[in-house]
Amino acid sequence: RPLRPKLPDWLKVRVRAGGGEGVAGILRDLRLNTVCSGALCPNIGECFCSGTATFLILGGSCTRNCRFCAIDHNPHPAPPEEDEPERLAEAAARLKLNYVVVTSVTRDDLPDGGASFFAAVIHALHRRLPEAGVEVLTPDFNGSGEAIAAVLAAGPTVFNHNIETVERLSNEIRTRATYRKSLEVLRLAAKAGNGIPVKSGIMLGLGETDDEVVETLKDLRLAGVSIVTIGQYLPPSADHWPLDRFVTPDEFARFGKIAEELGFSAVASSPLVRSSYHAGELQRKGEAG
Ligand code: SF4
Ligand code: SF4
Repeated sequence: RPLRPKLPDWLKVRVRAGGGEGVAGILRDLRLNTVCSGALCPNIGECFCSGTATFLILGGSCTRNCRFCAIDHNPHPAPPEEDEPERLAEAAARLKLNYVVVTSVTRDDLPDGGASFFAAVIHALHRRLPEAGVEVLTPDFNGSGEAIAAVLAAGPTVFNHNIETVERLSNEIRTRATYRKSLEVLRLAAKAGNGIPVKSGIMLGLGETDDEVVETLKDLRLAGVSIVTIGQYLPPSADHWPLDRFVTPDEFARFGKIAEELGFSAVASSPLVRSSYHAGELQRKGEAG
């Protein structure tokens, strides 16, 4: 079975040579994982070449096993490495980043789901790079308000948690995470966030209908989300959830327009959009909006 149907032209990415090696070397030296390589992101050429990376903390394997996700599954991952926050801040400084995205695998094995570790990373980045924005893309912490509060107390620039897909498909595609729980995470963050903008993202092409996409956007707005990303799902392998459709750039533009009309202050909607794609730009747009 082929990995995926032939890509339409708008999804073919020109990988620029050179430039990214420095980033890859620094990440290797400091033993850090990025989503960019772990999740086989199609923008890796562009982002690495411009010195941007999304750090994946708390190990490279996840206690969950969502059907769309390329990250390795391991029910018993290694304990967190205490010096990872400092190593990450060192990498961000060496890469001269001015906007750092930090995400993690889901750690259902840790009592706080890794929330205190997120806080430690935010603090380490603030100390080392006081001018840089820090966006966190968190797991659902099993809906724990305490965990969400601990992350927010560390003062991220943006709190991001992906709803991933529409309600009808959530249970089949995600493991343990539910649509309602994710909405609750976003609602709690928006309520408690002291003005910290809340962001979420959805992938298209998993089998959802257009109406379900609009419903999801409405639910996100009602939960208090102000920044939204909408991108094309690409199955990482033939064993992952199969692709249902390629959504055309025009259809993405239409969903983007609907999202703006619903009142999101920053919207990124196009085939290559990923949760962290142009994250700094989107945050500034959100601030201005
Ligand atoms: Fe990395 Fe995000 Fe860029 Fe993909 S879009 S390469 S995950 S920073
Ligand atoms: Fe991937 Fe997140 Fe699901 Fe883990 S919880 S398998 S990292 S999408």
